[in-house]
Amino acid sequence: MINIGWLYPDLMSTYGDRGNVITLVYRMQKRGLEAQVVKISLNESPGLISRMDMIFMGGAQDKQQEIVNKDLKANKGLFLKKAVEGGIPGLFVCGAYQFLGRYYKAADGTIIDGIGIFDLYTESPGINSQRLIGNLIVEPYILPKTRLVGFENHGGRTHLGKKVTPLAKVIKGFGNNGEDKNEGMVYKNSIGTYLHGPILPKNPDLADWIIKKTLEKKTGEKVSLKKLDDTFENKAKQVIIERYL
Ligand code: GLN
Repeated sequence: MINIGWLYPDLMSTYGDRGNVITLVYRMQKRGLEAQVVKISLNESPGLISRMDMIFMGGAQDKQQEIVNKDLKANKGLFLKKAVEGGIPGLFVCGAYQFLGRYYKAADGTIIDGIGIFDLYTESPGINSQRLIGNLIVEPYILPKTRLVGFENHGGRTHLGKKVTPLAKVIKGFGNNGEDKNEGMVYKNSIGTYLHGPILPKNPDLADWIIKKTLEKKTGEKVSLKKLDDTFENKAKQVIIERYL
């Protein structure tokens, strides 16, 4: 059984982020693998995190981020750090991506300390500043010759440190901060990204990258995934790319 830990599903899941866990389970089941989603929110024991084979956490508005952050700092952060540092694959979208960094300065100036797993920080320039909203098309370094599409909506500008690498180069949209053309981040087997939409159903190659890493970590062996028929997914993606480029 492959356990997918979904952190704070009731508080952190904007712009269809739940579609990511649906996609992971679907693509595993299509290959005859047994997978289940384990929801881990405020009331669940932090120790559950150590039993997960993969971790997903979505985005949220600043208010929910404050609630979740208290729980992360007091309870679950250490377990999450151990999992990520140990190479458990993770997908952290938008608000979650910001949290795993050093700090997030919210639009009202409040500093929300991150849990410092990723070498990055995020700052919003303030309530009257432009939010970075729109369709985003990027070229991921981990999947050459592929493009990822999605939707971004964030006030925070993220800046990467030296210990992490960018996930992708921005072709259309803003990405991490609207300036350096970087989008997202990769650290060990974890990905941080601003791509909502949700990201995985729109980008099956990335879903498979995560599944492959998950299976390799669990079995300790090289894995080659059976190809699935992604004709519709890829056509849909092509339409988006042609519309915006
Ligand atoms: N509240 C954060 C920001 O605006 C994250 C938003 C999100 O997760 N969509 O930057």
